[in-house]
Amino acid sequence: MEKDYTKYFKGPSLKEAKHRGKEEVKILKDEFVIPEAMKNAGEGKTYYIKTYGCQANERDSETMRGILESMGYQETKAMDQADVVLLNTCAIRENAELKVFGKIGDLKRIKRDRPDMIFGMCGCMAQEEEVIARLLQKHPHTDLIFGTHNIHRLPELLHEAMMSKEMVIEVWSKEGDIVENVPASRENPLKAWVNIMYGCDKFCTYCIVPYTRGKERSRLPKDILHEVEELKASGYKEITLLGQNVNSYGKDFKEAYSFADLMRDVAKTGIERIRFTTSHPWDFTDEMVDVIAEYENIMPFVHLPVQSGNDEVLKLMGRKYNAASYKALFDKIKAKIPHVSVSTDIIVGFPNETEEQFQDTLKMVEYCQYDNAYTFIYSPRAGTPAAKMEDNVDLKVKEERLQRLNETVNRYSLAQNKKYLGQTVKVLVEGYSKKGNDMLMGYTDTQKLVNFSGDPKHIGEIVEVEITDAKTWSLNGKICE
Ligand code: SAM
Ligand code: SF4
Repeated sequence: MEKDYTKYFKGPSLKEAKHRGKEEVKILKDEFVIPEAMKNAGEGKTYYIKTYGCQANERDSETMRGILESMGYQETKAMDQADVVLLNTCAIRENAELKVFGKIGDLKRIKRDRPDMIFGMCGCMAQEEEVIARLLQKHPHTDLIFGTHNIHRLPELLHEAMMSKEMVIEVWSKEGDIVENVPASRENPLKAWVNIMYGCDKFCTYCIVPYTRGKERSRLPKDILHEVEELKASGYKEITLLGQNVNSYGKDFKEAYSFADLMRDVAKTGIERIRFTTSHPWDFTDEMVDVIAEYENIMPFVHLPVQSGNDEVLKLMGRKYNAASYKALFDKIKAKIPHVSVSTDIIVGFPNETEEQFQDTLKMVEYCQYDNAYTFIYSPRAGTPAAKMEDNVDLKVKEERLQRLNETVNRYSLAQNKKYLGQTVKVLVEGYSKKGNDMLMGYTDTQKLVNFSGDPKHIGEIVEVEITDAKTWSLNGKICE
């Protein structure tokens, strides 16, 4: 008889997802516990985590690392040697999912050679009903599946997976809570992600995130500020405030406290560099622009996803702004924030996008002359409204549009970078460059990658670098001693 797994999870359901905001968000401070049997379970054992997708996943993986290390596990870079392997997955586009299924295939062989190894899948794909069904049918070597709301339960779930012969699945579609006091082991000793809110309520019609990450809920300012103070005290130079939509921060509070208020308070902690992502163009207030302009430790860099330059497409996407209002916001940001750089996200080939509509997107890129743009071919995501729209645009046409778009984007990226030639810029020195030859690397306040010559004693410091060469994706320079 087939097992009924539906009691463990609910897949993305528009109907359910629309019923939001009625329950109070609970802030759970004591929810993370390591069961007695797992306290030292990792002594002498190793773990391997592979992270796919956005910064929210990167940050979640840091939490998993922290949890595993607090049970005694140590990280290994060799997947086939690890005692626990976790794939933290992304569901945003089909090709992200295909990569994960490829890796799951590799793990079958490893699991055959080392049956005691525990293989778990988590992240956004774990929130999808179809994915779970496929794992159950085709990949029974998966030991554990847990969702984006169940991460703090990892010690308990790992214990169950070790004890059980069956696949352990825990995926909650209910997403009302914020769990505090969960350990984290951060990848980078200088730059840290700080979650300020979880989930998304925007429901852009193409996007799976509101289903996989749940409703928008803000962490309390005091918890965020405490985390920033701690990071500063332990030597971190840069933090990035993270949310799918940071502009919506605080909208779920009873008292008035906005993202601008939070940025002001974070700036006052005196941490050297503050970044934030992502800003939806919809509710980017004048006050936010003013605060970014006012504080020196808030970096002059805004990621402002436009998605399309055409009003009809934007409407079908449910983006709630139009090309004119986007341009007005863009102009305000450029006018008020000295030497700001702006990047964006663009989708081509939304269902039935015409050549004229695509031309409007090119025109938008020409107008904004972005410093950088992440460009994607639209990928239908089951359960979203756009996936039900009929599409008569050939894939070849979409690919050709993407290529034209990338050519335009790259032209402006190079032009923007060339403006830095001969300038002296401030760079946080992160370490050695991938370019080799003892070159160093780091980012400017405007988020430009710089490879430069200089003394490695400056790693961890913010130094002045003279820019000597500009390429499409990076700058070259030499340190000003
Ligand atoms: N919250 C952010 C925002 O609104 O800009 C974006 C988060 S999403 C992880 C990053 C980008 O993926 C989006 O800005 C969009 O360009 C792209 N994206 C999302 N869903 C997509 C889909 N179904 N097909 C192609 N690209 C998609
Ligand atoms: Fe997805 Fe739109 Fe939410 Fe961004 S704002 S996460 S694109 S639904």
